[in-house]
Amino acid sequence: MRGLPVPRAALAGLERYNPEAGACPLDVSDNTSLWGPSPAAERAVRLVSAQSISRYPPADPRALCAALADYAGVTPEQVVTGCGSDDVIDCTLRAFAEPGEAVAFCAPTFSMLPTFARVNGLRPHGVPFRPDGDLDVEALLSARARITYVASPNNPTGREASARALEQLLASAEGLVLVDEAYGEFAERSWVPSLQRFPHLLITRTLSKAFGLAGLRVGYGLGAERVVAALALVRGPYKVNAVAERAALAALTEDLPWVRARTAEARDVRERLAAELRRVGLSPLPSGANFLCIPVAHAASWGARLLARGVRVRVLRALPGLGDALRIGVGPWDSMEVVLAALRAVVAEGLR
Ligand SMILES: *Cc1c(COP(=O)(O)O)cnc(C)c1O
Repeated sequence: MRGLPVPRAALAGLERYNPEAGACPLDVSDNTSLWGPSPAAERAVRLVSAQSISRYPPADPRALCAALADYAGVTPEQVVTGCGSDDVIDCTLRAFAEPGEAVAFCAPTFSMLPTFARVNGLRPHGVPFRPDGDLDVEALLSARARITYVASPNNPTGREASARALEQLLASAEGLVLVDEAYGEFAERSWVPSLQRFPHLLITRTLSKAFGLAGLRVGYGLGAERVVAALALVRGPYKVNAVAERAALAALTEDLPWVRARTAEARDVRERLAAELRRVGLSPLPSGANFLCIPVAHAASWGARLLARGVRVRVLRALPGLGDALRIGVGPWDSMEVVLAALRAVVAEGLR
């Protein structure tokens, strides 16, 4: 008898990404848009001709790349799309490192990054952030990694890397530097203008957060033409489906004022929420994203008590250098008042 096929050794111990789900009146746990989708994208989804779905979408969505290029301020040849920016990150690891090589990053960061490294046969090499919360550039450089990953703003902390640290990293890194700007729209600064100076810089972005289109799975990478061409090769054709392509194009061509208004509102709400949290005695970290990270003791108890009050937040346990924390997505102020009322009630029960 033949035994069951055994998966590759690198997969041992990896767990599937499976966040807590299920019905909850207010879910602020996943950083998606609490303002809903871009209205133009929603209209496009309704109007897409059902006939068109019997055929493949464009293998390389040129119109979409052109619209993304306009939005980002680069040329269409500098854009590669994917099934979410997850897909672009995964392809980057496969395209630019040989099995066994290292991917360096400061921890804690995007939880999928070490998993993507392992499933691609690479070695995740996490180093701590500096005590002040900034990138530890020396430690990243001393890993001499083929790929260095920096999420700015970072998830789950919300912090932006300082310009000084990231400049220094870009000036000295030998391998590819992947800057993940999933939350770039909410931040002080984007690194897209620096593409001109650094051919080894690749930036990933997404329509999942500021555009409110997480369910459609559209992400993109921006970089030097030859870098982007390698990613398109590794990715393969048809990763942006026909419906997503129409909707993304509609959002980018008709709805940028809507996106900019919601983004500005999210930034205002974030600062207002942070001030209210401090009044309650909590200490949110500075954030350049559409969420706040709040270190607490016993995050699991907080999570359970908030859930009992109809609010789901992300519970983060034992983050390196930070310990337990809660991550709360920002949305329209009336929903933030619901979150605050639940938090105040938990504080009144004596939890800190
Ligand atoms: C949400 C997120 C992404 C993006 O995901 P998509 O696959 O584009 O939906 C990428 N990086 C970070 C850090 C994120 O938080």
